[in-house]
Amino acid sequence: MGLDRICKGCGIEKPLSDFSKNKESKDGHRWKCKPCMNEMKRLNRASNLEAHLEKERKYYRDNKETLDSYTKEYREKNTDHIKAYHKQYYTDHEDEKLIYSKEYYEENKAASMAYSLKWGRENKESRKIARGKYADKNLEKYKQWARNSALARKTQSPVYADRVKMDIKYRASRIMTKLTGKMYCVDHIIPIQGELASGLHHEDNLQVIPMITNSAKGNRFVPGFISWELKHVV
Ligand SMILES: [Zn+2]
Repeated sequence: MGLDRICKGCGIEKPLSDFSKNKESKDGHRWKCKPCMNEMKRLNRASNLEAHLEKERKYYRDNKETLDSYTKEYREKNTDHIKAYHKQYYTDHEDEKLIYSKEYYEENKAASMAYSLKWGRENKESRKIARGKYADKNLEKYKQWARNSALARKTQSPVYADRVKMDIKYRASRIMTKLTGKMYCVDHIIPIQGELASGLHHEDNLQVIPMITNSAKGNRFVPGFISWELKHVV
């Protein structure tokens, strides 16, 4: 080594190997050390981000085939390494990731639902397999939910509930499904198995809404979600 140089950026004396090569310079090395060069590039990029992005996009477009084949080759040669890296990253960030994806899901429930419905329609075979796996895993949960739901319909259905009016709503949901080609269902405005409040299985607590809206609403009462007459239900 021996050939130390004082960096023009940070002013620290460093071995020549800490300076990247530059053909135009007299001794073939840059005057700023690698970290300083990186910082300079970073700042430069940030201050001209759009221009840089455009340049990078153009570069990618012009060299798409070569770049893609590099990436492919790298992936194929380093599958184990990449897998290990992802696994390690996931382990190191597990808590954050769970919180993040949960928060994201809560905030974007309707959009997530729409996306997964669309995905399902376009990937029917994969959806079938995924559903089968999910159902196997959660069979007991499903059964319990169905039992609770049936029980709630029974115990929370007051004697004055009008069976005919209720039946009309269920029929209406089937008609809407046929007419629109989208799934409609009968929703309990105040969920009958709600966490905070339990509504009644009564015609005034029933509304016909698209399935996707119902899934987004989940088992919650969302005030103002729909207008309804409190006096009939409580
Ligand atoms: Zn430096």
